[in-house]
Formats: sequence, C-alpha cells, structure tokens
Amino acid sequence: MKLIICNNYEEISMTAAKLVAEQIKDNPQSVLGLATGSTPVGMYNILAEMNQKGEVDFKNIRSFNLDEYYPIADDNPQSYHCFMKENLFSKINIDPQNTHILNGLCEDTAKECEQYEKQIEENGGIDLQILGIGQNGHIGFNEPDESLTSSTHLTNLTQSTIEANARFFDDIKEVPTKALTMGIGTILKARKIILLANGVSKHNAVRELLNSTISTENPASMLKVHPDVTLICDKEAYAKDRIGIDIGGTEIKFGVLGEKNQLLAKRSIPTKISSKEDLIDDIANTCQKLMQEYCVSSIGVGTPGLIHDGLVSAINIPFQNTDLKQELEKRLPIPVSVSNDANCAALGENICGIGRKSRNLVMVSLGTGIGGGIIVNHQIYEGRGSAGEIGHICIDLHGKPCPCGKAGCWEQYASAKALMEAAIDAAKAMPDSMLYAIYRENDFRLDGIQFFRAVADGCKTAEKVLKRYVHYLAVGLRSIISIFDPDLIVLTGGISNAGDALLVPLRAELGPKIRIEISELKSEAGMIGAALLP
Ligand code: PGA
Repeated sequence: MKLIICNNYEEISMTAAKLVAEQIKDNPQSVLGLATGSTPVGMYNILAEMNQKGEVDFKNIRSFNLDEYYPIADDNPQSYHCFMKENLFSKINIDPQNTHILNGLCEDTAKECEQYEKQIEENGGIDLQILGIGQNGHIGFNEPDESLTSSTHLTNLTQSTIEANARFFDDIKEVPTKALTMGIGTILKARKIILLANGVSKHNAVRELLNSTISTENPASMLKVHPDVTLICDKEAYAKDRIGIDIGGTEIKFGVLGEKNQLLAKRSIPTKISSKEDLIDDIANTCQKLMQEYCVSSIGVGTPGLIHDGLVSAINIPFQNTDLKQELEKRLPIPVSVSNDANCAALGENICGIGRKSRNLVMVSLGTGIGGGIIVNHQIYEGRGSAGEIGHICIDLHGKPCPCGKAGCWEQYASAKALMEAAIDAAKAMPDSMLYAIYRENDFRLDGIQFFRAVADGCKTAEKVLKRYVHYLAVGLRSIISIFDPDLIVLTGGISNAGDALLVPLRAELGPKIRIEISELKSEAGMIGAALLP
C-alpha cells in the first residue's frame, strides 16, 4: 500500500484530485468507482474546477458508485443519487447516461445487485476506485463481520455507521438501516484504488488498517491484498506514533514509540558504511517498512559526530557535512529531526528513564571516549550544534595526548578505555595479583566484567586502579557540576553496568549533594530519546 501523508484536508483533496485527473488524461474513457460521504467532497470540488477550466474532460468517463441506502428514493436529499448530483455530476460534463448508482427503491435487490456487477463488467471493469473509510473500518457499506460478501449485495448497517451518518439526517431514526453496496470482491477487482481518510475520528481505523492482519472484522484490511492501493490521509488520521533511530558504528537501532511513549516495536539493521547514499537508503527503507505497520507522524535520528548548522560530520560513519534531515525528508513523507546521539540518550532518560523527575540533567557516556548529553529545562542544550563534548574537558594541561590534538583531555583518564588500559598496566606491574591472573587466563585481555569481578573478589591491585579511576571521573564531573549544577548526572556505557561497584565510591568522592545514577534505559536510551526529539 502506498502512503501519502498530507498536512490537511485541502492537501488530501488536491492530491487525490490530481491522481484522478491523471487517470482521466491517461485514459479519457476511464471507468471510475466513486464514493460518497464527507471525505471526497473537497476532491470533487477540485475536479469540478479542473473540468470548468478545461483541464480535465469527463465527456467519455463512465462511473459506478459504491453504494446507496436501502430503501431510499433517488430524489431524497440524503440519497447518494442526490449527493453525487449536487457534489459532482451537476458541475462537470459527464454524460448522466454514463453514471451508475444502485437503485435504492428496486424491488428485487438480488437482481439489482447482479445487474450492477454485470454492467461493471460490460464496461470493462473499474479503472480507478475512490474509497472513504468508516470509523469502524468499513469500505463502501461492507461492515465488520464474521464473513464478508464478495459481490454487490444488500446489507445491514451497524449501529456505529448509523450513528456516524446521523449527522446528515434530521433524526437518527431517519437513517436507513440497510444499504446496497459493492462487495469486497467488486472493490478489489478495480485496477487502482485510492483510499481517503481525514481527521482524528479516522485515526483508529487507519491504525487498524495498517497494523492489523487481514480480517473480515476490519474490511479495509482486505485492501492489503490489492497490488495498487494509495492511502491518502492527513496527519491527524494517520499519526500518533514516532520512530526513533540511533545510528551506531555497527548497528542502527529503530524504535517505534506510541502515544504514551510506550515502545511498540524495535528493529535493528547493520550499519552500512560503504557510502552515505547506501546508509541513508537503508535507514529510509526500514522507516518505510515501519510506517506500513505503524502510524508514524515523525522521525528522530541520533547520530554520532558533530553537527554544525544542521550538517553532520562523523568519523566512523560516511557523513561529511551531510544534511541528514534533508536527505531523509527527500526519501520519506514525514518530518525528520536530527541530533547528536548522546543528546538523544539524555532526552530519553529525561522523559522516559531515570531522569523523569529532573528538570536539568547531564548524561555521561563512558565508552571508548566520553560523550555527554545536556538537558536544560527538559530540552537538549546543543549550543551552536555540538555542545556536550565533555570528554575533551582538560584536566591536565601537560597530560596525555588526545587524538583531538590537545593534551590532558578527561576521556584519556576516565573513559572505559582508559580504565581498561590502567587496569592492564597495573596487572602487568603486579604479576602476583589476582588481576594479573585473570588477565593471563584470558589470553592477556581484560574487560570491564572481569575487572569488576576482581574488585568484588578483593583484589587490592584492582581496587587501587578503581580508586584512581573514580578520582579522575569525579574531577571531570566536578567541572560539569560547577557549570550546570544539574539535578542529576546519569552514567551510561558498558562500564556503568558495574552498578554500585562504581556508584558507591563515586558518590563518596562527590559528596551527598550530588545525585548520580546509572542509566535506566541503557542501550535503548538513544533510540527512545531520538523519537522524542521536538
Ligand atoms: P465520511 O464517510 O467520508 O463521511 O467520513 C466515509 C465512510 O463512512 O466510508
């Protein structure tokens, strides 16, 4: 199903009218399947204007309407005969002989329906069918049921449809309780189908259509078996969910967040670093797939690297002054926001994680380097675009060289990588230590879990390394606290899995006035926060 999301009803009407006009230009003798209801009125008005301006010619067009109440007289103002005359046929140069609407007063409904099917066939079948959708997912008057009739038939209207249509009548008692309608099979035989949905009242129907499996309880879901359906709807009918994307060096995480920020779905794909185009195409394709299943109003992306004037440049990913927002919006029909991945993680923790009650927080990510995300007043603080590069706070003017070109950067002392390097140096210097034994048993490698196991088992060498590491960590954190005085500091990254083994000595160093916690959302924080980007 192709999806076109419009900003408002006018745009839906214009988009649909253009598609109908194209069909007529391609084949001036097209057979159109027409719908009634309030939704297609705007499209009919535009088509009438186009016709009056000579832009589209209905002279040889043939039409079949989807349905008609039963019983109802043609001249009853609520009949679909009157509706079509008033909203379209009287304003265009269609030959009334070429228009077909089921007879709401026929005596033999079975015969009327059979003839209607025959007439459609004799005219070569429907080229383009216009459809609205009921709040209960009906199309035409095919109401949700245990089974659906394939061809044109007489049907009972459900109470919800009677109530929805009562607005067109003086009294709900006047709404007919039956209707003649094309069947699902009749509709599916059309070569092309355009489905229109407008406004929040159609949101559940659209969501069900996109999310549910094919079922007669949701007649519109049957359209999923048709190869050429275009759903045109506005954001209110369509959207409540958001996609969040966290681009990592090896994998890209996708999450769909629902109305209440609940995580509805997760996906991940490998990060293709062959070219910028391949990478962005991959991201857009996964979004397209998710958008078929979920009603997505916006996409947020957390990317590594620096963002200046909206342009992303990263080291391990092929972005070099890349306008990621624009590139994705070229490929996708909904707005895209982009921010730094650490900022996204901070926002995620602030709205859905450990920082829910904090107005201001700083997220500190301890990995190969140290990344930071700053939240001020529940909003990401970006500076000119790349604030939060806290790993490069200088803690020793004449200290260790940093790949950034400067010396003594905090991450050279307090990143996870720095901790592991310090641990290995200490193990080598103390060959009798438990830490060295673990290092040797592991083919002269050491990871965070092994290191903290040594600490837990009382290894003095490991304890000393940790004490020094915590000291360095606290030195940088104090600078951050001096600048931001945040309600909360959140630690993330693999090392933070050590939990209390890290937190307890760190809290002791920083004193009781500082609240410091471990991330709650862990590796999902970036993806969740990206979905929450404004
Ligand atoms: P509406 O009806 O366009 O008036 O919302 C559509 C339908 O019930 O099929």
